[in-house]
Amino acid sequence: MPPNRRLTVLSGPSGVGKSTVVAELRRSHPEVWLSVSVTTRKPRPGETHGVEYFFADDAEFDRMVGSGELLEWAEFAGNRYGTPRTPVLERLAAGVPTLLEIDLQGARQVRESMPEALLVFLAPPSWEELERRLRGRGTEPPDVIERRLDAGRVEMAAEKEFDLTLVNTSVQDVCLRLIALLAGTPEV
Ligand code: 5GP
Repeated sequence: MPPNRRLTVLSGPSGVGKSTVVAELRRSHPEVWLSVSVTTRKPRPGETHGVEYFFADDAEFDRMVGSGELLEWAEFAGNRYGTPRTPVLERLAAGVPTLLEIDLQGARQVRESMPEALLVFLAPPSWEELERRLRGRGTEPPDVIERRLDAGRVEMAAEKEFDLTLVNTSVQDVCLRLIALLAGTPEV
C-alpha cells in the first residue's frame, strides 16, 4: 500500500454535516488523525483555537502561503482556509490514518499533488435537506448563507470527480464507513 493511500479527503457542500462527522470521529476514533486547518474565518461560538481550526489573520495566512507551508488552500465564501503541510506528511510517513476535511477546490489540489489519496464526497439526502440544514443552523448571516448555498451548487455538481460518495443519512453510519475506508477495508 503506498503511504499516501492512507490519506483520505472528506469533502462536500457546506451544511452537509462534515464537521459533525469529524467531531464524532474525533470522539469515537482517536486513532485517526484529523488535520487542523488554518482559517481567516472568525471562530464560531464553541470553537477553540487549535481544535477545530487555527484562527489566523490575513497577514499570517499570506505568510503561510508565501512560505509554502500549506499543502493546499482555498478561498471559500469570503474566507481563506488551508491545510498545514508538515503535520500531514509526518502522520503519513508514520503510517497514521489521516483525514482532511476540506472544500472542493482543496480536494482538487490534493488530487493533483497526491494522486493516491482517496477522495470521499459527503452528500446530503437531498438538496432541500441541505438548504434546510444550512438556513436552520443560525451561525451565519443571510448573505453568507446564500454564498454557501451558491458554493454548494458547484460542489454538488462535482460529485463525480470523487472516488466515492457517502450519503449523510446517519452520522454513525458515515463514521463507520469512513473508518473502514481509512483502515483499507472499504467493503465493511
Ligand atoms: P466552515 O467555515 O463551515 O468551517 O468551512 C467552510 C468550508 O471550508 C467547508 O467546506 C470546509 O470543508 C472547508 N475547509 C475547511 N478547512 C479547509 C482547508 O484547510 N482547506 C480547504 N480547501 N477547505 C477547507
